[in-house]
Amino acid sequence: MLCGERGEAGLDLCRACRHDLPVIDCACLRCAIPLPASHRHHGLCGPCQRQPPAFERCLAPFAYQAPLDHLLQDLKFNRRLALARTLGQLMAQWLAGQAPPLPGRLMPVPLHPARLRERGFNQSLELARPIARRLGLPLDIHGCQRLRNTPPQAGLSARQRHGNLKGAFGVKGTMAGHVAIIDDVMTTGDTVQELARTLRKAGAERVDVWVCARAGSV
Ligand SMILES: [Zn+2]
Ligand SMILES: [Zn+2]
Repeated sequence: MLCGERGEAGLDLCRACRHDLPVIDCACLRCAIPLPASHRHHGLCGPCQRQPPAFERCLAPFAYQAPLDHLLQDLKFNRRLALARTLGQLMAQWLAGQAPPLPGRLMPVPLHPARLRERGFNQSLELARPIARRLGLPLDIHGCQRLRNTPPQAGLSARQRHGNLKGAFGVKGTMAGHVAIIDDVMTTGDTVQELARTLRKAGAERVDVWVCARAGSV
């Protein structure tokens, strides 16, 4: 996947490249933002202490740094779909090791139909497939829809960002139980927060977020 060497352990990635991936050593227990090792016993980042997010817990194996940032951009914008299989497998292996409370369903962040037509696939769904297989969890791809095709959050003020996503998602019928949202990267967290709020309002009892990479640091 990176250097062209043979992959190992059923992955499209050689041992050396795998060891070079930017794993997160110490993260906020709520939002997974990388924390300095000195915070290890503290647990929560400042923003989560002040105002806990709408989701229960975000889990992220990797920091959004080289080469993960390039890989995720390549997947999304250059349609390197094969990357999703490997990155999803890496997420699944890591999650299995973390042994988190397992949700009743996985919900990839839905794309608006216009965006889906343009891109040809939903990267979150493609990442979710290997996770669903490995952990034996059902994928929910119809229970929630993207109702509005919102512009990217980057470059907007905090106020604009909030308004931008209001009513972005709609649940068909009702939700129940424990849901894990799957996304490629979490940056501001606005999108998954809005989706988590929508799912909770529709009846989900607990919402977690599982992403491939977490951007930002404290
Ligand atoms: Zn390699
Ligand atoms: Zn946090």
